[in-house]
Amino acid sequence: MEEEGDAKPKKAGPRQCCVCNQRRAALKRPKTLDQICRECFYRVFEEEIHQVIVENQLFKPGERIAIGASGGKDSTVLAYVLSELNRRHNYGLDLFLLSVDEGITGYRDDSLETVKRNEIQYGLPLKVVSYKDLYGWTMDEIVKMIGLKNNCTFCGVFRRQALDRGAAMLKVDKLATGHNADDIAETVLLNILRGDIARLSRCTAITTGEDGPIPRCKPFKYTYEKEIVIYPSNHTYSNSLQILNQKFTYAYFKRLDYFSTECIYSPNAYRGFAREFIKDLERLRPRAILDIIKSGEDFRISTSTKMPEQGTCERCGYISSQKWCKACVLLEGLNRGLPKLGIGRSRGLNQDNSKDVKKGNGTRSIESKQCGSLDF
Ligand code: SF4
Repeated sequence: MEEEGDAKPKKAGPRQCCVCNQRRAALKRPKTLDQICRECFYRVFEEEIHQVIVENQLFKPGERIAIGASGGKDSTVLAYVLSELNRRHNYGLDLFLLSVDEGITGYRDDSLETVKRNEIQYGLPLKVVSYKDLYGWTMDEIVKMIGLKNNCTFCGVFRRQALDRGAAMLKVDKLATGHNADDIAETVLLNILRGDIARLSRCTAITTGEDGPIPRCKPFKYTYEKEIVIYPSNHTYSNSLQILNQKFTYAYFKRLDYFSTECIYSPNAYRGFAREFIKDLERLRPRAILDIIKSGEDFRISTSTKMPEQGTCERCGYISSQKWCKACVLLEGLNRGLPKLGIGRSRGLNQDNSKDVKKGNGTRSIESKQCGSLDF
């Protein structure tokens, strides 16, 4: 007979879902640590995004909205969730997919195939704009000329403008991007580390560019990356809650078709440190991501800080705080065989412009969200 003291402690079984109190919990939500079942997770995940859209009045009925689509996890989930919410809550939106082809062989060509499948899967018309058509250069050609330093500066500057031009071709009212809460927290941190006051002051805004050609909005501003997708280390199913926690993400269980390879030209240096730091903080305190965003929102910029004045590029008419916009300066450098012309603090082509801003307007290594790094 077993002595009382010999009894092994029983393993705690899976708990009930804290939302429906009926089904077994399938995961602990990374954002709230709530134990929740798969069905309730889908619903809560989608409805939180709906609340963000409604509370921030991101869209108006009848608007045409382009979704910046790279084929990656965030933009694929954004396209799927926006299509669902548009139907479920009668937003009355016309949704489109807008992709940029930077001309990166072995990366963007493959991810664009994913976007083309998404076009059919979600029934959303797709527009692709390419660097080659817009600027006469592919990123492959640019990297051949400039090497692997500053390539993301060219790419980020060209992409920002390419998205605006694509949005204008689609005649949309707004561009929705897949920046998630982790991305925004990283950017707050990076802008502090770089002392980039101009970007810090706008990087937490859920809608930006309202005074520019096409406003941009971020419906995933409060959505945790870990709930969108984590790339599982293996794909075998298990009843273990711990293993399910690693795999249980929206994209994975909805079986969404996304592309998960990094750009072959990705530098991943500075932003990588910020990303790791935020992941460490999140492990200790999941709310840390939201708190960093809140800190960014609450920064007040001193009135004595000189901010860039917005005008238009004398060459192409795009918004610019200088005589020529950054894309025109970089392009001129490429075309003249002087690719360093627009790198670093703006000089040369913009030198004689009295509106040149002395603070916070040098060209940094602008990285872009479509490749896992960001430009806000
Ligand atoms: Fe462009 Fe991103 Fe690749 Fe840099 S990492 S070259 S910004 S696609």
